[in-house]
Amino acid sequence: MPDTPAVILPHARGAVAVESMSLADPGRGEVLVRMEACGICHSDLFVAGLERLPLAPLVLGHEGIATVETTGPDVTAWKPGDRVGMTFLATTCGVCDLCRSGRERFCPKQTNFGFSRHGALARYAVVPAAALVRVPGDLPAATLAPLCCAGWTAQGALREAGLERGRKAAIFGFGGLGHLALQLALQRGLRAAVVDLSQEKLEAARDAGAEFTAPAENAGRAIQKEFGGVDAAIVLTPSSGAIQQAFRALSRTGTLVLVGIWTTQYELPLIDTVLKGVTVRGSYLGTHQDLEEVFALARGGILLPHVHTHELEETPAILDRMSRGEVQGRAVVGF
Ligand SMILES: [Zn+2]
Ligand SMILES: [Zn+2]
Repeated sequence: MPDTPAVILPHARGAVAVESMSLADPGRGEVLVRMEACGICHSDLFVAGLERLPLAPLVLGHEGIATVETTGPDVTAWKPGDRVGMTFLATTCGVCDLCRSGRERFCPKQTNFGFSRHGALARYAVVPAAALVRVPGDLPAATLAPLCCAGWTAQGALREAGLERGRKAAIFGFGGLGHLALQLALQRGLRAAVVDLSQEKLEAARDAGAEFTAPAENAGRAIQKEFGGVDAAIVLTPSSGAIQQAFRALSRTGTLVLVGIWTTQYELPLIDTVLKGVTVRGSYLGTHQDLEEVFALARGGILLPHVHTHELEETPAILDRMSRGEVQGRAVVGF
């Protein structure tokens, strides 16, 4: 087996570094894959900042596009040369109510790439065959990679928002998820507002078709006054300040969709929640159908991730820049 370079978090809150690690041969039900590309996600930063880890040292990454090299015993679904995707969801129990009703992303026994299992920011990876998803063979890996987390999650959040054509949505955070959420919102015929801290990102949002943009500070009031409020506010950043503004941006009976996570708390304004009939829901990844849809939209040229490709060695520096909100679109490692 080849040694592989990988982006490794040595221990909880340790310094992320690119190091060489050895891989075992694929065991029963496992395959060895060679990575083509892997996106770098805010959740990688989240994992790197956690006080405790289920696995350490840990290979980060959960937006991988790869090719199957070899298969272990009892693998029938894949053969060498197949193109596959790795998402955050690795394995689930397959038998609980959630797994059997298409909501396996909430399975309490799930394992996750780049969290409780080694992830996709490595040239080679040995992974459970059942964790892999089929991806279109005719698109560049760097274009497909961000769909495996950012695109999938954005589509899930928009579906959870449950809006019909012509309704208004506000997207809080115009980064890796946000720029795809805007494209998906417009594709659904929604009127979209975008909120971000960065003027540069707001400009990019206007260029990409946002009808209204507002800087983060006082965004709620600006959206109420100048855009007439929104039917759903989708919060992709983990900032409690952004959640507060998103709540203020809602019209009566609107929906607050929370996606970005951190270890912070948010205080729910009780009077407005009750008297305005606000729905608050969390949205985590998406359904199998959501993932199929984002791949189909990308193939149709409707969903176009804005990516910058980098060398694996640049990953620690990119994570630093992401923590400061300085990355436009999605940073993707090409192998
Ligand atoms: Zn992610
Ligand atoms: Zn389950």
